[in-house]
Parts: sequence; C-alpha cells; structure tokens
Amino acid sequence: MSTADRLAWSERLTNRLWLSTDGRYAIVRDELPEHRPKRTVTFTLRKIDPASSVAYPGTLGHFLAQEYTLAGAKQEAERDNFAEEHAAQLNVPPDLPAVGLRRFFWPISNGTTRAGLAIVREDGRYLARVYGTVRTGDGFEPGVFAELDLTGLGFTGTADNTTEHGPDPCYDCGVNPGTPHLDGCDIARCMFTGGQRLSCEQDDHDDCGRQVWTGRWPGEAEAEEFGWWVQDRCAEGLGWVPCAPGAPGACPDLNRLHLDARWDRTAGRWVRREEATR
Ligand SMILES: [Zn+2]
Ligand SMILES: [Zn+2]
Repeated sequence: MSTADRLAWSERLTNRLWLSTDGRYAIVRDELPEHRPKRTVTFTLRKIDPASSVAYPGTLGHFLAQEYTLAGAKQEAERDNFAEEHAAQLNVPPDLPAVGLRRFFWPISNGTTRAGLAIVREDGRYLARVYGTVRTGDGFEPGVFAELDLTGLGFTGTADNTTEHGPDPCYDCGVNPGTPHLDGCDIARCMFTGGQRLSCEQDDHDDCGRQVWTGRWPGEAEAEEFGWWVQDRCAEGLGWVPCAPGAPGACPDLNRLHLDARWDRTAGRWVRREEATR
C-alpha cells in the first residue's frame, strides 16, 4: 500500500469532531453518562455517503464503529477505506486451481469480499481449505486460513485440480445454483410479475413462487439470448448505450426487457414481445 491512500484529518470542533479531508469519514467524541469509576469517552466513526451529503448538507453519515481512542477510530477508518479501495482484489478468484471450490462472502467484510472453501490436491494429498486473501507486497493472493488433511482422514480419490468451478452461490441469500432463493432475498424475482419478489405488492396474486438461483442475475440469460447489450459510456457523458455483444465492457441490457419483452409466468422467464403488440 502506498502512503497516497492514507486518510488525512482536520479537527472541525475542538476535541469534538474530526472530518477526513476527503469528506468521507467523521469521528465524533462523546462522553457516556457513566460516572463510575470515571466517565467513558468514546470516539464514534461515521461514514459519509457523498450522494446523501449533497442532499443533506452537514450529515455525519452512518455509524461504522465506536472506539475508546481517537487513534483507534482513525485506524477503523483506514481499514474501511482500504477495504473499499481494494474490494475487487480482496476476492478469492473464481478460477483458483482446486478439485472443488465454493466461494462465499467473508462475514466481516460487509458483503464485499469473497472467500472460498476448496478441496485442493497437492503432492498427491487431498486438503480441505478455507481461503481468504492476504497481502503480498503491493498485491493480494489467496491465503489459507484453515486446513484439514483429508488424505490423513482416510479420504481417497482420483480427481484433479481444475479452474472451472461453475457459478457462485446467490450474491444475496447464498443458496447454491439450482436451489430456490431464501425468503428475504433481494435478488429473487416474483414468478407472477417478473419484478423483485421482496418489493412485490401481490396486487393480483397470493403467491410469488420460488425462483431458483441459476448462477446469473435474473434476466441476464434472456437479454443475452435476444442479443441486447449495453456498455457504460458515462465517462463520455453518454450514459449506458446499446452495443455489440463482444464490445468492451458489454453487459446484458436488463432495462430493455421491460420495454421489448414481457414476463411469461408459465415459462417463468422473459419472452420477446410479438411485433404485432408493440
Ligand atoms: Zn438469493
Ligand atoms: Zn409477486
């Protein structure tokens, strides 16, 4: 890590309030009303979302951590800042060589960092490993956090390591591909309307059904099948524009599904709108 990505602070109210100079973090000093044996001083770290600070000037953001020292609160801010800047690299790669790999979200990463449980063949032995990522100089690579020697436990087999591990579990509820999403999953679609199940008002149905996680975002397969793609050209002030399937950064155009396709509740998928009904 270079020194360039360290936070700088300014004290806005003497011994009361500190803001990071990039405007993304605030630390508030409080004294809890606990007098025995002496009053407890706390330093609360808050994170300021740039969008809401525009809408609500002066907001001190949302709670991130509470510490007993200013240095401790600053350290927590550094940790959060680091995790945000390196989110992609902190993931165990989907093509890690292993006999089998199941990736999952590292519980303390706020749903940003992918760890993995893998069976790995090494020197003729089978090992069950929990991977996270560790820093190596300027980069990151998968590090082993726990290991069981399956060969030592009597496991035998002939499978070899591969880098093809199939799709990840659902990004929200964590079920494996081929399994219905859990209640409360915000990725699951309503099988009656095709809209988000979590926000479905069930106007004309009682049961939203149980959509199965396929390993892809709902609607992506249909948009790909119809040849509908967009690319991000926001940096040029163009927004998201239609593009060819192989164009740089091409993503399936999910918005177009709502315009040029309709939800077929019998088939449980999007189908193209007939030309005549356009
Ligand atoms: Zn889910
Ligand atoms: Zn519904």
